[in-house]
Formats: sequence, C-alpha cells, structure tokens
Amino acid sequence: TEQQLIKRIAIFGSTGSIGTQCLDVIAANPDKFSAEILTAHKNEDLLIQQALRFNPNIIVIGDESKYQKVKQALANTDVKVFAGEAALDEVAAMDNYDMMIAAIVGYAGLKPTLKAIENGKPIGLANKETLVVAGDIVMQKAIEHRVPVIPVDSEHSAIFQCLVGEGRNKIEKIILTASGGPFLGRKPNYLVNVKREHALQHPNWAMGAKITIDSATLMNKGLEMIEAKWLFNLTPDQIQVVVHPQSIIHSMVQFEDGSIKAQMGLPDMKLPIQYAMAFPQRIANNFPRFDFKKINTLNFEEPDIKTFRNLALAIEALEKGGNLPCVLNAANEIVVYAFLKNRIGFLEMTDVIEKVMHKIPFVQQPTLDQYFMSDGEARAMTADIIGL
Ligand code: NAD
Ligand code: MG
Repeated sequence: TEQQLIKRIAIFGSTGSIGTQCLDVIAANPDKFSAEILTAHKNEDLLIQQALRFNPNIIVIGDESKYQKVKQALANTDVKVFAGEAALDEVAAMDNYDMMIAAIVGYAGLKPTLKAIENGKPIGLANKETLVVAGDIVMQKAIEHRVPVIPVDSEHSAIFQCLVGEGRNKIEKIILTASGGPFLGRKPNYLVNVKREHALQHPNWAMGAKITIDSATLMNKGLEMIEAKWLFNLTPDQIQVVVHPQSIIHSMVQFEDGSIKAQMGLPDMKLPIQYAMAFPQRIANNFPRFDFKKINTLNFEEPDIKTFRNLALAIEALEKGGNLPCVLNAANEIVVYAFLKNRIGFLEMTDVIEKVMHKIPFVQQPTLDQYFMSDGEARAMTADIIGL
C-alpha cells in the first residue's frame, strides 16, 4: 500500500543547514518521506519546533542539560526524547528507520554513522569528515553490510549522478569544482587581516559556520578530495580540482575514452539532498532553474595552492594516507573553532595544522581505535599550540 512506500528518514543534525533543508524536502514530499528520528546538539528550541511540526518517533538532544526543557515542551506528544552523546549511537542502532541522513558537522558524526552502517541502514552522507577521518574503515563496513553510501555533498552527488548507467566503465579522473570562496584571487597580504565576519560571507552557498570557513581557506576542497577517494575508490592522481566561480557545474567525470560528463544546475543543496533520499528516482520540484540566457559565461582556473596552503596540506594527507587525514581534520576542527572565536588569525590556521600534521606520529594502517587516538592527540596538541 501507499503507506509502506514512505521512507522513514533519520536526520542526524536536523537543526543544521543540511538538516533543515532535508526537512524542507520531507515537508514537500509527505507521500514519500517521513521524519522518524531528529537529533540536535544544542539548539533545543529549533529541535522542539521541528518535533512539534514533524511528529517524529524519537528525538535526541545532545546537550543533556537541556533534556528537561525538551521533555516538558513535548509532554503532550508521544515523541520519545533521549539526551546525551551515547544516545546518538543507541538511536542509530534502532530498527525504526529506513535511511540516515548524516548531517552532523565534524568528527562527532563518525560514530553514529558507523552504527547505522553496522545496522544495515542506507546512508545519505553530508558529513564528509566521517570519510576524511576513517574512510577505509567506513567504506569497508558499508561493503560488508551491503549498505549504500549516497553522497549529499554537491560535488560528490554530481559525480555519483555522472556514474549512473556507467556500469564497470573505468574513471580516468574526476574534476572537482571549487567556487574559490569569498577570497578568490586574494593574496597573503590581504588574508592576514581577514576576520570571521569576512570569512563567513560565501558568494554562492549559505551553509553552517564550519564548512563556510573551510570554503574560505579551501580546506573544504581538500576534505572533498579525500572524501572522493573513498566514495569512488580513486587514487590521488585521479582527483583534480578546478576553480569554477559560478558553481553551476557541480563536478565532472572523465572516462577512459576522454569523454567528460558534468552535472549542472543552480547551487541549491536541496537538490543533492533529495537526490540521495529518493535515489534511484528523481523527484519533481519547482526550485529555480538555471537559464543559459542569463548566465552566459562559465569560468575555470587553477586553484592557488601557494596562497591557500590548506589545500596543499590536504593533498599531502590524501597522498600519504594512514592517520594523516584524521590528524589534518582534527587540527582543522580546532583551528576553525578558534578562528570563529577570534583566537587565531586566518593564515595562522594553516601554520598550526601543518605543525600538528608533522608532529603526531604517523600510522600507516590505523585501526578504528588508533584513528580515535590520533584524533584526540591532534586535538590536544592543536589546542596546546594555540593556547586554548
Ligand atoms: P551546521 O553547523 O549547520 O549543522 C550541524 C548539525 O550538527 C546541527 O544540527 C548540530 O546540532 C549538529 N551537531 C553539531 N555538533 C554536534 C556534536 N558534537 N554532536 C552531535 N551533533 C552535533 O552544519 P551544516 O552546514 O549543516 O553541515 C553538516 C555537514 O554537512 C558537515 O559535515 C558539512 O561539511 C556537510 N556539508 C554541508 C553543506 C551545506 O551546504 N551546509 C554542503 C555540503 C556538505
Ligand atoms: Mg561540497
């Protein structure tokens, strides 16, 4: 019956930029999706509002001090309320949902996503840090449990869409497009004085604070190269980055015959979100359309990795592998947090990440626990260097 066709979605990180847009997609398609599980870290007011509107089965508030308030606000509903970090893993291991949208930001998204994979639940993956930290283990587990990991990140969704129908045809390389961020064309003498307010202005996308800073430093593109390596089983030399300021081409795949496929459209995260949720179907919508008569130029240029050295560091981590991407990610999370608190300068972020990458002992083939340890050590060292 109709009822059985409704896909029950668990949104981990429902109060964020991706999470709220995922709920927009659910609201627009009540015949296809329901919000079954919602989780938030600290924003209890929005979580309560979402619970009242979408009537999920379960919600989790990460910050335990907010449990009573949430519980009381939902006293007249049958929404079950859990609290605390451990609850994220417990809820991910439950049976009452059909797909997880992994929309938590940062390392915090890794463990619940692993739980969902072990639980056999398909993943719509926005949380790229999960693959940066432990991509080999995450993808291996996905294969073991026959779980599809469908990218939500727009570039990876583009590549995924280009690969539909290609069967075993070999990829020669992928071309990840980068907007270049708000400081495209700027040099170090300008960047040295940049403050959080400038860096938080992204030209093409409205996103959470962390990824917006990562876009300004180009670390985001570096994380995406590592994400692509694991999602599509590529070698580092098969992954190219090109700056494309209009963000109309979301990324491209070049095949062995030299043919290049691109996925295009206006920049709107709801598209890759709904694509991941409905795959292999497409859903009709009335989002604004790209019009070739209005935008008649698409530009491309090389990324300036001498100025935006975070991208060079990420490429180093991509090439060396082991625990280095995990260390890079941990150090980056701490420096971005410090930059957002005005505790460190824009260019200093790179210097600190570089130091930490070269000081933490290298592990070639880490176990999951060794990844957790590298993450912890890198965070502690970074905080220590900054003086947090
Ligand atoms: P955001 O900051 O807007 O939202 C993050 C969500 O995660 C919130 O719901 C928050 O409550 C939750 N959260 C934060 N810290 C947590 C913790 N320690 N434990 C549990 N939950 C926690 O972030 P966002 O922009 O929506 O990004 C989410 C993820 O999607 C990131 O990994 C980002 O790189 C990726 N992504 C985002 C976009 C975008 O357009 N925003 C695009 C591509 C990829
Ligand atoms: Mg992206």
